[in-house]
Amino acid sequence: MINVAIDGPAGAGKSTIAKAAAKALGYIYVDTGALYRTVALSAQKLGVLADLSDENIQKVIDSSVVELKYIDGAQAVFLNGEDVSSLIRTPEISMGASAVSAKPSIRAFLLGLQQDIAAKNNVIMDGRDIATVVLPNADVKIFLFASPECRAQRRYKELIEKGESVMYEDVLADVNQRDYQDSHREIAPLKPSKDSIMLDTSELSLEESIDAVIQTIKEHI
Ligand code: C5P
Repeated sequence: MINVAIDGPAGAGKSTIAKAAAKALGYIYVDTGALYRTVALSAQKLGVLADLSDENIQKVIDSSVVELKYIDGAQAVFLNGEDVSSLIRTPEISMGASAVSAKPSIRAFLLGLQQDIAAKNNVIMDGRDIATVVLPNADVKIFLFASPECRAQRRYKELIEKGESVMYEDVLADVNQRDYQDSHREIAPLKPSKDSIMLDTSELSLEESIDAVIQTIKEHI
């Protein structure tokens, strides 16, 4: 199986780019952030998102069945049998996902699921620790990044297009806070693996970024 790991900070365009590249190459696209978001949603439903004590985390793990399904090639994520793919795309769940993902037992809970999919399919998997932890033997490892302002601008546009009422300054503050949390946590901090190919998308259009990723993959498989 061909495994491509794409890591990088929030808003670098990973999901859009990885999804398009996977489609062009005929691979399955796996958005691992959706898994952490789903666990955050579960914690929110249980009323413990603001208090992630060890006991509460265990409660979340014990009462969450998380599954990924592919419907016409598109990924859908299920929590206890319910398709929660759109419920997990809110700013509160973004921040919650960052909080739950700092917990080792939650990372361990989601690890097998990610590795199973990659063992059975050609995948492009996007996340934070795919090259370093989940798929250390991936055939191609790409680290996608862009400046915080550039990423905030893109995410802001995305949220506005979805009809959310947000302020650019708040989105930028969220991007900075999530970058800080994700790169300073003790477990699986966001950082490129030594053998990752670094790709800066700040100055690239979406199409150019997609082409750069496809080109990089083709050169390395
Ligand atoms: O990529 P996305 O923004 O959906 O991810 C939500 C959060 O989940 C991130 O801020 C990060 O903290 C966490 N995450 C992670 N490891 C991954 C994917 C996401 O820690 N492989």
